[in-house]
Amino acid sequence: MSMPMRIAHIDLSRCRSEFETLAPDLIRKWGGGSGLASWLFYQEVAPNIDPLGPENPVWIMGGPLTGTVAPCSGRIEVVTKSALTGILGLSNTGGHFGARLKLAGLDGLVLRGASDKPVYLWVRPGQIEFKDASHLWGKDTWETAETIGKELNDHHCKRIKVMAIGPAGENLVRFACVVNERYHTAARGGAGAVLGSKKVKAIVVDAKEAPLQISEAFQKTARRVAQKIKKSVACQNYSRFGSIGVSDLCTEMGDLPGRNFQTGALEGWKENRGTDRIRSFISKPEGSCYHCAMPCFNSVEVKEGEYVGLKISSGTFVQVVLEFGAKCGIESLPAIWRCKDLCHRLGMDYGSASGAISFAMELFQRGLLDTRHTKGQKLRWGDEQATLGLLAQIAYRQGLGNILAEGTSRASAFLGPATAPYVMTIKGMEMIGQDVRAGRRGWSLGSLTSPRGGDNVRTTHMQGDTLRPMSLLKPENRSQWEAYSQNFVSNVDMFPEIKEAIYGNPPLVDPLTYQGKAFLTKWFEDLFSGVNALGLCTFPADKCALGPSDYAELFSAFIGEEISPRGFMEIGERIFNIQKLYLIREGMSRSDDIWPPRFFNEKLPDGPAEGSVVSKETIEKVLDEYYEARGWDRKTSGPTAVTLRRLGIENLL
Ligand code: SF4
Repeated sequence: MSMPMRIAHIDLSRCRSEFETLAPDLIRKWGGGSGLASWLFYQEVAPNIDPLGPENPVWIMGGPLTGTVAPCSGRIEVVTKSALTGILGLSNTGGHFGARLKLAGLDGLVLRGASDKPVYLWVRPGQIEFKDASHLWGKDTWETAETIGKELNDHHCKRIKVMAIGPAGENLVRFACVVNERYHTAARGGAGAVLGSKKVKAIVVDAKEAPLQISEAFQKTARRVAQKIKKSVACQNYSRFGSIGVSDLCTEMGDLPGRNFQTGALEGWKENRGTDRIRSFISKPEGSCYHCAMPCFNSVEVKEGEYVGLKISSGTFVQVVLEFGAKCGIESLPAIWRCKDLCHRLGMDYGSASGAISFAMELFQRGLLDTRHTKGQKLRWGDEQATLGLLAQIAYRQGLGNILAEGTSRASAFLGPATAPYVMTIKGMEMIGQDVRAGRRGWSLGSLTSPRGGDNVRTTHMQGDTLRPMSLLKPENRSQWEAYSQNFVSNVDMFPEIKEAIYGNPPLVDPLTYQGKAFLTKWFEDLFSGVNALGLCTFPADKCALGPSDYAELFSAFIGEEISPRGFMEIGERIFNIQKLYLIREGMSRSDDIWPPRFFNEKLPDGPAEGSVVSKETIEKVLDEYYEARGWDRKTSGPTAVTLRRLGIENLL
């Protein structure tokens, strides 16, 4: 092993910490990041604990390659029991926090117990100090970092890196997130609320930059892999423009999550919120993660109007435009970015926040909420001031915000059964992304099988399930479609039998068929789980620029032991299985792998996918195929004994 992995166990109740060096065979089997943390979390934590109780630990865990010279190695995972869903809360953040933690001699922090007064942790090489944070309580995430920077004589936070919660975390908003370096968030699942329940306002890593002692063989592999990323056209495009192309793709496919998924098409979308419109705001690259070979943080800047001066570093991530622009119907991009800005400062996951607000807007539309619930405020689609007001009310738990702060599913239970049809969650987490009635089938399926619920971010296979332009599917373009598919499939780093299972022979890349999508979903879930466990960003894999051969080579060079590409994929599969086991242990089953009823019962009313609806029968068949491919029981959806034995975790039987 090039470098041993070390973690700090932090007892918040007793203000004590101790260090542990992890056994190399543990790393060989689980990597680090969400892999190792999920495994150790599963073993340590009893079923059915209260996520907001002191018995819920928080693992902040880098991978073995985090902070090394491997490309895109600035990633770190936060694992805890989700305050929102009650299943495993998995969220990943970038920036420089993880790399700086490595320089402080640590790969992970495990926070247990709870402090009786607000604290922040000051992590330096060989020591962890518990500092009073009473004066920080109430501050937003940006103010918190600035104040700590001044206190520790690092006014611009160059030496220190701060991970903080905002008022939302303090107030136990169930989808509160943690924010580091302003724009980087471990967003989904409410880890911010869990830290808030422990009275941890911030974690500060403080270490000077210095080269790590890593073998020449590893450095050579890292350079080769970095070149591969840099040469990839898909990565180059992503680096320049992020995911803004998805905005126009949605209008082509009619899969916008419009007005809480009531419609897949919104009038004026392309003009107001389309790809070219977003592009016109791009100013310069800013805020990307540590040692990235395809830096994708581009700032957008508002130069006029009500939000003049507003600047967002991750402005080319299209997701927020779909969330506040489509789900809540806000037309103005600057207003949408102001919503994101506010979520960052208050410390809230904007995916769940926009979900809760669009749910409330639909209730208002249907007369299930009225001005008596909102202190006179009308909740109309696209009302940016109402949305901004509700975001603040949620974070501070005021009025209707106090109900929405519980998340959409709990809010609906409180507001009554008539509101249930408008809850757009999977496993208790608000859905983000496109409408599954019209969206790419593999992309959609990933949201059903995700071990954290709500989205497909743990398996976003953008490149493997996308066709640009979609008009290649027209009969007159058949030969071009075949040529594109042949070229893509022959170049992608994937095992031959998997290629055939997904794309057929001769291969066809068809985002609109469910055929092969069970295998596609499993493949990328396992691949991403492995990549995440190394502490690397999944985007190069998402763009199919890298595959298991590259990751196996990197990992092998690091640990000084040969891991084959199939061995690497097995690590990912093992991780995905332990995360599924946690979900089963918490009482979930096959019936939870389901989308909200709207997608099965209501046809899309307009747009290119007008009339589309999901067939329950088809989805059940695809799920059967998926469980079969995974070696999971079709009835319970849990891993079978044979599968656990194959993955070397039969001790969990
Ligand atoms: S690709 Fe983007 S998200 Fe990934 S490590 Fe680089 S800057 Fe961070």
